[in-house]
Amino acid sequence: MVNFVASNSKFMSEELKEQKSNNFIENIIEEDLANGFSSSKLRFRFPPEPNGYLHIGHASSICLNFGLGLRYKSPVNLRFDDTNPSKEEQEYVDAIKRDVEWLGFEWDRECYASDYFQELYDWAVQLIKQGKAYVDGQTSEEIAKQKGTPIQAGTESPYRNTSVEENLQLFERMKNGEFENGKYVLRAKIDMASPNMLMRDPIIYRIMHASHHRTGNQWCIYPMYDWAHGESDYLEQVSHSICTLEFLPHRELYDWFLDQIYDEKLVRPKQREFARRNLSHTIVSKRKLLQLVNEKHVSGWDDPRMPTISGLRRRGYTPESIRKFADTIGIAKRDNLIDVSLLEFCIREDLNKKANRVMAVLDPVKVVITNYPEGKEEWLDAENNPEEEVLTFRKVPFSREIYIEKEDFREEANNKFFRLKLGGEVRLKNAYIIKAESVVKDENGNINEIHCTYDPNSRSGSGTEASKRKVKGTLHWVSVPHVIEAEARIYDRLFTVAEPDRQEKDFLEYVNPDSLKVTKAYAEPSLKNAKVGEGFQFQRLGYFSLDPDSTAEKLVFNKTVGLKDTWAKVENADI
Ligand code: ATP
Ligand code: MG
Repeated sequence: MVNFVASNSKFMSEELKEQKSNNFIENIIEEDLANGFSSSKLRFRFPPEPNGYLHIGHASSICLNFGLGLRYKSPVNLRFDDTNPSKEEQEYVDAIKRDVEWLGFEWDRECYASDYFQELYDWAVQLIKQGKAYVDGQTSEEIAKQKGTPIQAGTESPYRNTSVEENLQLFERMKNGEFENGKYVLRAKIDMASPNMLMRDPIIYRIMHASHHRTGNQWCIYPMYDWAHGESDYLEQVSHSICTLEFLPHRELYDWFLDQIYDEKLVRPKQREFARRNLSHTIVSKRKLLQLVNEKHVSGWDDPRMPTISGLRRRGYTPESIRKFADTIGIAKRDNLIDVSLLEFCIREDLNKKANRVMAVLDPVKVVITNYPEGKEEWLDAENNPEEEVLTFRKVPFSREIYIEKEDFREEANNKFFRLKLGGEVRLKNAYIIKAESVVKDENGNINEIHCTYDPNSRSGSGTEASKRKVKGTLHWVSVPHVIEAEARIYDRLFTVAEPDRQEKDFLEYVNPDSLKVTKAYAEPSLKNAKVGEGFQFQRLGYFSLDPDSTAEKLVFNKTVGLKDTWAKVENADI
């Protein structure tokens, strides 16, 4: 079921302006402060695993954690949760830093769980000494079998009562690289009958002979997430450790681990959970996004169809639009799906304010203005953006031959067709009123040229009676001799269904084969000066952004989003 967030764009605009009341995480913090927790001790963190690029789901977590930092004027750490060297890479670390920065946030400390490998090891030794951890030499299958079920207690491992000395020796030998992968694990000795399966002697260390992107070959045993995460929070003195709902059952273990090492003089981190954000018609899972990249369904992590921060950036999204999106959906206690049209709404609103209007024609047909002198050109004033407080203008060239969109002309049409038809008039944006007189066709009956006449007194902004004359349609156009030819990449949704990972078949079966259409664009010459990433409104067509694939010879534009607000179709509110 798709839960939409609001009913229409007007409502949304109001909604976006409103000051939000506290969310439930802020309420938790407020309560802690009211109970005497010093605000100077607040500290948060955003803890990505560097095993892929950040996606729009992460943006929610980033905006939440860094948003708390801003609200309480507290530091926020960027912590790389790098405890699984087989999947993690420096490339991902770099991409994550770039994306968080681009979103507009500043972290206090750049931390790595791998910075704490020694402390984590020493604490594990301490657990063994206290009889609270043991080395288990069974296979993972045997260990899994002994776990029991939620309604049936597990069975204790035969290794559970090995002596402390023997455990210390074995753990040391694990660390020294004497055993192959999987031969032994270190387990916390908690409770094999706990109703919480995660408390049934969880694994805290495993052997993995793999080179780590930061510690190289220094270690061949690596801590598990649960063991590393809470202790890293503690070492960094994070006060509120906010994660997604799937970690709710891990909280008991998080607390148990902290109990083992906690010193009362220090801040004791608190894990709290919020719902993962899912976006319709896409996937928010690094593992699956990696699959899309590896299997070449997309051109890379930053393919403009990807829901990654880098893909959205390349598509033409602004940091403000993504922050607005995260802010608008807020945080929730239950998992839900946000319709992608809300994200599109946010970028459309932002670009409406910021993007200059320009003219480009994607599917051209030539118009010859027969009463316009041959060889003449005029540079006409064109408004950049009607939303600007102080209007600015640029010059666009006009000449005897122009392109308009094929679909803007019909030989015959009824009165509801407000574009150009034989015998009818339209205004050319920023220019003159023209009238279609005849067409020239090739042997197959295709229209090669439309012959028009223009009214020389009707130039926009010239103040004449004719310039004020109302005609029903206004078309965008470009002057043929001045045109710059570019490439336009037009995108559709990457998946054909709203929830590709909740279908009967594998999510890859639902990749939209028509998600990318490459076409030529004939653009006005001012676009020669466009900068990579700069957003424009191609009038009547949509918002476009200059792609980094562009060269001086060939500009490439990505369609960011259409002009129409599909949001209006969306019904019902459920934030
Ligand atoms: P993925 O399955 O995509 O790898 P993850 O949760 O394993 O996601 P992490 O790198 O561990 O990715 O995530 C960093 C932080 O971002 C975590 O606190 C995680 O809970 C949060 N996060 C990840 N995905 C989402 C999402 N869809 N919505 C909200 N928060 C998310
Ligand atoms: Mg993960």
